[in-house]
Amino acid sequence: MSATHTNVDPAEVAKFDALASGWWDEEGESKPLHQLNPIRLSYIESRSQLDGKQAIDVGCGGGILTEALVKSGATATGIDMGEMALKIAKLHALEAELKIDYQHVTAEEKAEQAAGQFDVVTCMEMLEHVPDPVAIIKACSELVKPGGDVFFSTLNRHPKAYLVAVLGAEYLMKMLPKGTHDYQRFIRPSEMAAWCRHARLEVTDITGLSYNPLNKSFKLSDDVKVNYLMHCRRPLD
Ligand code: SAH
Repeated sequence: MSATHTNVDPAEVAKFDALASGWWDEEGESKPLHQLNPIRLSYIESRSQLDGKQAIDVGCGGGILTEALVKSGATATGIDMGEMALKIAKLHALEAELKIDYQHVTAEEKAEQAAGQFDVVTCMEMLEHVPDPVAIIKACSELVKPGGDVFFSTLNRHPKAYLVAVLGAEYLMKMLPKGTHDYQRFIRPSEMAAWCRHARLEVTDITGLSYNPLNKSFKLSDDVKVNYLMHCRRPLD
């Protein structure tokens, strides 16, 4: 195991691998990711051109966003450390007849191999599952071309996120398996922004994602207290 693998929490990756067979079940345990997908894709498309671009989805899981990127015209690579999740991703892409390059590699290793090769980097709902999110942000910054776009989403370490994303989603509504999220690993937008700037990314936008339990859908909002999207740009060197 190389040194960079120390930034993989095996227990976290195992949690997602255990869910892999149901990853594409829109009513299953990945339901929130399916519900999030249209709105996060439209956020990405409103800020970045996807058609004809090279994209990489870091921590792609079963490939819900990765496939959407390809359907929007991008050429996509998906990387994850979950072997089962990647197996499901590959199988689903095959069935959907989508060409996607899925790789079992860490973000840090990929950044060493393919620095500056991607127009668009996405890293969604993943940073709150790694021991050192700063290193992932740095790798994402290295992967993107100068002038390219990087998109993150994560959960805010705010009491409302504990209520909504942990107590609400895991215990009350049972949308997610208990123990999916560890509140201590949630990231405040101010921390994210500082880490991005430190990684030489310019933060151009932070937008909240709010869940409406009545119509069971997410929408973009000014409230960043629970889940939020961040758009960064790598300045031209
Ligand atoms: N980004 C996808 C999946 C989110 S679930 C989506 O939003 O649809 C979180 C994913 O992060 C899981 O697939 C898990 O295996 C992956 N992951 C966790 N730690 C990782 C690490 N250190 N490197 C790569 N992937 C990791």
